[in-house]
Amino acid sequence: MPLQLYNTRTRASEVFQPLHDAQVGLYTCGPTVYSSPHLGNYRSYVFADTLKRVLRFNGLAVTHVVNITDVGHLNARGEDKFERSAAGEGHTVWDIAEKYTAEFKNALEALNIIPPDRWMKATDHVPDQIALIERLVAKGVTYETEQALYFDVATFPTYTALAGQALDEKTVAAREDVVADSAKRNAADFALWFKRVGKFKDHAMHWPSPWGEGFPGWHIECSAMSMKALGEQFDLHTGGIDHIPVHHTNEIAQSEAATGKAPFVNVWMHGEFLVLPSGRMGKSEGNALTIATLAEHGLDPLAYRFFLLQAHYRQPLTFSWDALEAAAKGYRNLCLRMGLLRGKPKIGCAEFEREFRDAVNDDLNTAKALAVLQRLLKSTYPDEAKLESARTFDAVLGLKLDRVAPVEVPDALLKTVRAHIEAREALRAKRQFAKADGLRNQINADLAPAGFVLEDTENGPVIAPKR
Ligand code: AMP
Ligand code: ZN
Repeated sequence: MPLQLYNTRTRASEVFQPLHDAQVGLYTCGPTVYSSPHLGNYRSYVFADTLKRVLRFNGLAVTHVVNITDVGHLNARGEDKFERSAAGEGHTVWDIAEKYTAEFKNALEALNIIPPDRWMKATDHVPDQIALIERLVAKGVTYETEQALYFDVATFPTYTALAGQALDEKTVAAREDVVADSAKRNAADFALWFKRVGKFKDHAMHWPSPWGEGFPGWHIECSAMSMKALGEQFDLHTGGIDHIPVHHTNEIAQSEAATGKAPFVNVWMHGEFLVLPSGRMGKSEGNALTIATLAEHGLDPLAYRFFLLQAHYRQPLTFSWDALEAAAKGYRNLCLRMGLLRGKPKIGCAEFEREFRDAVNDDLNTAKALAVLQRLLKSTYPDEAKLESARTFDAVLGLKLDRVAPVEVPDALLKTVRAHIEAREALRAKRQFAKADGLRNQINADLAPAGFVLEDTENGPVIAPKR
């Protein structure tokens, strides 16, 4: 099956066609680094990482750019999030941004997310943002008030196309980027440049510009940096679903208005949210679980990755510790099954590889892909073939399945135990449970000195480390 991806822009699954021969441009909206990113944020980046890995699996070379938003992000009350954090933590805004950028990058490593080809920090690219705003001014799609320079959404007829909903008072009021400025023409107009006046008169981050000393709005950074790195039109742009009605809508308006070229991005992809049973998880909701919270519960970040891959990225996923612990167990079993394979990888199992490809190429159906992997490992193919296919699959899933060193169970012991497991399964199939139990005791007696135990799971018996 050729790679099919769901495109928010066209509201359809489409066969993916790169704009330029086999070189794909991918831009992912990065974190706003004013506090610890939460597990929901990381769902967004595991999704983008899976997309990148699937593109590569399909033989495409990818240039991946991720930005770091370290300026211009306001909360619902129009306060700068960095300034609030800096005041609260007693640091400068620059220190705050650096601290949470480092935390974010460490977490990506723990989640085995491949770093982008290029990180772009908003404050490193202010001249590019100013240059793009100047192009917009020249096109007559902006206006200036005492407080800011705005994009005039009335000049862009298809402004609500991505969100597919009318921009009424209610949706506007719910938008975080809306600034209270009585001189604004339209409530949805968004700031391209904030002046260092009024409530921002002491703003710590400021640069000179044709509109006075000040700082850029949030949306312009992603248009300026993505076009700088990937060109005025490129293939793919990802983010969480909350970005559809505001941030990405604004990115499209500014970029297409400036260049006169449409579409700015060919395929827009959005990941659904990680939610709590009580509702939204968010930094502003104060219920944000972090990577550090996982460690406090003794859970491996890759078990969280496994948990995420069990769901489709376009489905909301409810977080619970029970679900995560079940995923951790499933993940451990998978690693153990891998660790029990012996030999050097050889030609893989074609039928499983075909099924796996069909799953991931069907709009990144990772849940199905995991099921194919499970069936592969339980199949009767020789170890060498299973190893080859499983490693190919893991290059897409990013689960580091090889982490259980094969030497943990000595080869000779493994051979005996496997023979016993097969004999026991045969006895159980014949409903000779007493004999089967006897054999299990024998197996466990063999395994105990090496620190292992036979564990019956819903996927069949596995050799597991003794707790
Ligand atoms: P932010 O740091 O707020 O700019 O968000 C970084 C990324 O996380 C964006 O792509 C958001 O859409 C995404 N995001 C925010 N909350 C969640 C959530 N609960 N589940 C999944 N993604 C989220
Ligand atoms: Zn963005």
